[in-house]
Amino acid sequence: MKKRVYEVAEDLKIPAKSLISFLTKEGIDVKNHMSTLDEETIEIIKEAIAEEKKKAKEIEKEEKKVFILDKLPSLKELSEKLNLPLSKVMQQASKLGQIKSIDRELPWEIVDKISQQNNIDISLSGNLKKVIKTKKDRIIEHPLSVKSPVITIVGHVDHGKTTLLDVIRKSNITKKEAGGITQHIGAYVVNLKGNRFVFIDTPGHEAFTTIRARGVKATDIVVLVVAADDGVMPQTVEAINHARAANVPIIVAINKIDKANANVDKVKKELSKYQLVSEDWGGDTLVAEISALQKKGIVELLELISLQAEMLELKANPELPATGVVIETKLDKGRGILATVLIQDGHLKIGDYFVVGKAYGKVRSMMDDMGKHLAYAGPSTPVEITGFNKMPSAGDIFQVVASDHFAKIIIGERELEEKRKEKKEEERVSLDRLFEEMKKGKIKELNIILKADTQGSLDALQETLSPLSNEEVEVKIIHGGIGTISETDIMLASASNALVIGFNVAVDQNAQKLAKNEKIEIRTYNIIYDLIDEVKAALKGYLKPQLEEVTNGIAEVREIFKIPRIGVVAGCYVTEGKISTKDSIRVLRKEEKLYDGKDFSIKRFKEDVKEVSSGYECGIHIDKFDDFQVQDRIIFYNFKEVTK
Ligand code: GDP
Repeated sequence: MKKRVYEVAEDLKIPAKSLISFLTKEGIDVKNHMSTLDEETIEIIKEAIAEEKKKAKEIEKEEKKVFILDKLPSLKELSEKLNLPLSKVMQQASKLGQIKSIDRELPWEIVDKISQQNNIDISLSGNLKKVIKTKKDRIIEHPLSVKSPVITIVGHVDHGKTTLLDVIRKSNITKKEAGGITQHIGAYVVNLKGNRFVFIDTPGHEAFTTIRARGVKATDIVVLVVAADDGVMPQTVEAINHARAANVPIIVAINKIDKANANVDKVKKELSKYQLVSEDWGGDTLVAEISALQKKGIVELLELISLQAEMLELKANPELPATGVVIETKLDKGRGILATVLIQDGHLKIGDYFVVGKAYGKVRSMMDDMGKHLAYAGPSTPVEITGFNKMPSAGDIFQVVASDHFAKIIIGERELEEKRKEKKEEERVSLDRLFEEMKKGKIKELNIILKADTQGSLDALQETLSPLSNEEVEVKIIHGGIGTISETDIMLASASNALVIGFNVAVDQNAQKLAKNEKIEIRTYNIIYDLIDEVKAALKGYLKPQLEEVTNGIAEVREIFKIPRIGVVAGCYVTEGKISTKDSIRVLRKEEKLYDGKDFSIKRFKEDVKEVSSGYECGIHIDKFDDFQVQDRIIFYNFKEVTK
């Protein structure tokens, strides 16, 4: 089957631009990311990339550190041995199983996994190998089980997100649960035809991006609602870009098909411009046609979500201690701090100790979205819990730990780390620093959020900036929009480590504040060429490092000789540094330049030499210049690369 370049790139999880440059290098002619590739070419690419990956792995292997163990270490000993902070090892260990104490011997599986996660090879002494072998027989492997998908509904204002969320929630009230009263805890669970879904209850991509800005992915699937009577609008595009930046698959729900002026085909056509092509149009985007108001097409939409979830093969291990993310918090007069935690993996029980951001605690109570009190909750379950020592924030990572003592050590280290970070400037992308960061190999993509005053200038800028990509760095416009630079732009920038560029647009005051807090660079321009030039300059800095002239030595002409068969030779005295035939030379009379070039030779006592140091005499002959005068100066120079 033929595929487009961007689809193949997506399959291979590499940037489309890299794929294009790879294909060009291989002599395969592709115009852009929409070009089609035949099956044979795709196979060749896959093989070549697998080969590259293999090579990279081998290199990684070579770089691995090796440690020898003669007894199973405790958590504390392991952190010392691996030279890693105790809190980091604790966190990694807590995710892998219940750890009772930092001084007790760890199971081999945990030691092994932690070493792998930190790219360290552990070699075991013969005795220890035997011990582990007998212990291993007693360890029961817990199989992974299927995890229900977590879904966020996004789209333009008034296109029906809230209505859809309500309809889906109501479709859930089965007889058994009818007794419960729905609670707004920030997410809810729907069971339909044996499938279980979790919906994040805040419509819109803002909340989604806020959570992602903290480095957590709380959503598996995005449902993009587009009203059939209105079509693709600015926030639709924004939502598409936010979902793409997060690498989350998009299912389209074309809503309001009951309306007289609904035009489903027009919406599909508009969406195809954003590479969301429905199956009936030859693409592979899952599209449902619905009316949230009349409750039509909802079951079909949920079926598509199941299908997508199946393809994602979401897995979790309910036996492990819980890890998750905070999606909502509130302060209740009677009950104190309440936070909804979406358990992403493992299980949570009453009495579990946990850390969450800079807060910690012990689960005192746990309630689901139907107001039911729970003693146990498994993966993909949103639960409102109490027992925090202080208020966590939405997006904070939640993690069960072995004890109060553990929690306090981890929080203590996090606070220290925070202080260290405050001291050190946050590492965000800035045009000025781009060059340096690229050198260090940190940035392979320059992510840009582009806001412009009109569609025309936005298109022009997108077309000009994207091709500026080079071998080392891909210029990636993750979102292009029209209008003022807003808070959501900054959140997206923060989540994607991007630079915000504005053309003829203002910056919202709140966005300015947020940008300052999040250390996001905003650059605004009024002249299109200034903008392009600055991005170009920043990128070029890397391709062509700046060269600076360095003077290595100076010789002064003291006498002039005419030698048969050779010509004029200047008898010189080296006054400064060292002169060398590797250098270029410049002959100066006072300030006037008489010659500049490389075709010369240096002689001492009729012999050709390569170098002469200061304080020595020598003869200099230039092939195409013989007009020397006494007191002319000859500057010997070359170029050195300088970093900005
Ligand atoms: P949101 O801003 O995306 O959350 O949109 P809402 O869910 O608040 O819906 C905006 C308006 O569109 C409301 O007046 C809804 O009643 C209406 N609406 C939502 N879905 C449908 C639909 O399928 N058909 C019709 N005719 N109206 C709808």
